[in-house]
Amino acid sequence: MSIHENLLSIKNYLPKTVTLVAISKTKPVSDLLEAYNSGQRDFGENKIQEMVQKWEQLPKDIQWHMVGHVQTNKVKMMAPFVHLIHGVDSVKLLQEINKQAEKHDRVIDCLLQVHIAEEETKFGFDRSELIAMLDSDEFKMLHNIRVCGLMGMATFTNSEQQIQKEFLSLKALFDELSQRPQTENFAMHTLSMGMSGDYKIAIRCGSTMVRIGSSIFGERNSA
Ligand SMILES: *Cc1c(COP(=O)(O)O)cnc(C)c1O
Repeated sequence: MSIHENLLSIKNYLPKTVTLVAISKTKPVSDLLEAYNSGQRDFGENKIQEMVQKWEQLPKDIQWHMVGHVQTNKVKMMAPFVHLIHGVDSVKLLQEINKQAEKHDRVIDCLLQVHIAEEETKFGFDRSELIAMLDSDEFKMLHNIRVCGLMGMATFTNSEQQIQKEFLSLKALFDELSQRPQTENFAMHTLSMGMSGDYKIAIRCGSTMVRIGSSIFGERNSA
């Protein structure tokens, strides 16, 4: 099937309230253009340099999502244009994003990554670290970022039950945080969970944003 057909069938499946981010890492600009010409406007990359190169070459109404692990020294490269940073996993990173956003006189939307998988390798906050950060004075002083939701990745497993359990735990934390008062830099409205292999489960568990790569663009040679 073509990129266009893949997009259509996924979009048909998704509820209207769920945003589809097309994860285009490792794929050539021509593939992104094909998706763009089918109406896709949200694209996600996991390497900052690659995202910058694609941003330079592609139409400027694309909304760029950084879904990978972010090194603080590279934040400045994407600060002029990035739409949403999914993988924020420390106050230090949030402070750097704030600093670079300020230079460009903008507010950058961020999602806090939560560790929900069994694997040790996945980055992210746990519940108590996350709440401690939101309560901290350091966080309250950040005026050029806005935490607008959470992101999580489930364990890589065939067990639907395991994946569902992890997604439901993230949804529960999202609901809990949604009870907190909204502030200038905090408002829970985006729950980024679900990839090619598990987005149908994620949607049943309350996802509002799915990050889908291989089911749109085909398998990657390397990730
Ligand atoms: C690569 C990647 C995806 C997309 O993975 P697929 O299995 O190809 O859909 C989603 N989220 C993150 C953080 C990724 O790095």
